[in-house]
Amino acid sequence: MTDLLLVEDDALTARAARLALGAEGYSVRVASTGREALDSVRTAPPDVILLDLGLPDIDGAALVTQFRQLCNCPLLILSVRADTPTKVATLDLGADDYVTKPFAAEELAARVRSVLRRVRPQLPSARIPLGVDLEFDPELRCLRDAAGNETGLTAIESMILGMLIAAGSRPLSRQVIHPLLFGREWSTGDRLLDVHVHNLRRKLNGASEGRIGITSVRGFGYALSTGGAPVDPAADGDPD
Ligand code: CA
Repeated sequence: MTDLLLVEDDALTARAARLALGAEGYSVRVASTGREALDSVRTAPPDVILLDLGLPDIDGAALVTQFRQLCNCPLLILSVRADTPTKVATLDLGADDYVTKPFAAEELAARVRSVLRRVRPQLPSARIPLGVDLEFDPELRCLRDAAGNETGLTAIESMILGMLIAAGSRPLSRQVIHPLLFGREWSTGDRLLDVHVHNLRRKLNGASEGRIGITSVRGFGYALSTGGAPVDPAADGDPD
């Protein structure tokens, strides 16, 4: 599994990035200070480092230099500073790419894939087991059963499923998922996300013969339900 180190002191941004990247099948460890990040890299060099430039203890540019002395994995900068001199200066120090915050999940995942492709041209596709006989392939965006039958997912459906898997048994709120998928806050009455979840739920139900589904958590969001009794398709309903 590809191991990412996310260096970010803002808990909300860290959570969003972790979800977005976990959704793509990456394992993500988070360090909230520069010191913690350096320790983490010394202990086990990650495959990719994602670094927020504004940390409480060590200046971002100084960290880039120190990371470069410790390992040569791809380094992606996450920053609210969108000015060209800052970008150029950090790239000059040895960062590989630059993502301006706030970011959309799909863009962040695409940047990580892109820096990884430069070092590993033949990336095997990730496979995430969903239950006894079903796996999710985020790279090819499909569900695959034991017989090899594939159910294609749209980009948005694939991101939603990945995020639900990354969240484990915890439900995800619309407020968290919506900005990552569509780049804007969710507002009451906005049905866009529900429509995509509805379609994804139908595909999951079909591919797993009703054993895997998405539960609506009233007034909150969604949770993945796996491995239990057949999911009631009528639970689709209107969550709010
Ligand atoms: Ca920060």
